[in-house]
Amino acid sequence: MKIEICGLNQIYPNGNHALKDINLELGTGMFGLLGPNGAGKSSLMRIIVTLMKPTSGVVLVDGLDIQKHREKLRGILGYLPQDFRFFTALKTWEFLDYSGSLAGMKNRKERIAEVDRLLDQVGLLEVRDRKANKLSGGMKRRLGIAQALIGNPRIIVVDEPTTGLDPDERIRFRNILSQLSRNDVIIILSTHIVGDISSTCHGMALLNKGDLVFNGSPENLVKQAEGHVFRMNLSPHEYDIVKEKYNVISTVPVENGWEVQIVSDETPEFRATAVIPNIEDAYVYYMEHKLQAYIID
Ligand code: ADP
Repeated sequence: MKIEICGLNQIYPNGNHALKDINLELGTGMFGLLGPNGAGKSSLMRIIVTLMKPTSGVVLVDGLDIQKHREKLRGILGYLPQDFRFFTALKTWEFLDYSGSLAGMKNRKERIAEVDRLLDQVGLLEVRDRKANKLSGGMKRRLGIAQALIGNPRIIVVDEPTTGLDPDERIRFRNILSQLSRNDVIIILSTHIVGDISSTCHGMALLNKGDLVFNGSPENLVKQAEGHVFRMNLSPHEYDIVKEKYNVISTVPVENGWEVQIVSDETPEFRATAVIPNIEDAYVYYMEHKLQAYIID
């Protein structure tokens, strides 16, 4: 199974050019779509789930144009929108049962069994009889993923699922997603939180102001930053110079000054040592530095 995105543009009526000629191909497994707020992630997700028609370009699922095969696509699609809300005071299991009916599960017995299996999978079985709108924020989000999964979709789209969650819930949510990552489903996870792009993402894309600026594996992104992340111990005076001149990623107080990490294309002065970048460092390098250099070129 694959999704091909070809020459996609989204221009809103007020002139906002939210997606600029996006070309992207996604295979099975988990795909991370990363970018700051306003990058165009939600616009792309809404087009993929056929809630919005692009200004130009096409999205193909296994060669079929999704705009021309909406019904077929909706039958294999699970979607957790960014602003997922409950409109009713249904119990948790009833809400999921209702979602199952909407997803086309007609056999009641099979549906109820699937509801309990999914509630167990997302850790909500104990609260199955609680009113859905009385769940905590993290639980609501987990119920959101359960409703996206019911009916056994083959394309699962989750838009910014960890925004506003505390770190424990974020990890829990990430684990649920990575357990879903099988080779017969495509999972698209959009996020502005770099830490959500885990090693389970086989591929990722970086969007910035509507442009696709990186497409590859998380390891590739990290590789781009190798040799460009440095650590140094600085006196307060040196720190003032460095922060003017370089992109500072982190600052930790130490005896007599600061331990500072920066990204830079050249090896800086001040007794700097190169460190192995992680994905957060690589993201900063890419967004703040490489793209700046690219724009200046
Ligand atoms: P993200 O999900 O990465 O935050 P969005 O796709 O929501 O990005 O937004 C991309 C750009 O399109 C932003 O500049 C945003 O303000 C604009 N935008 C989004 N929705 C609309 C809309 N309905 N009308 C006009 N502009 C919009």
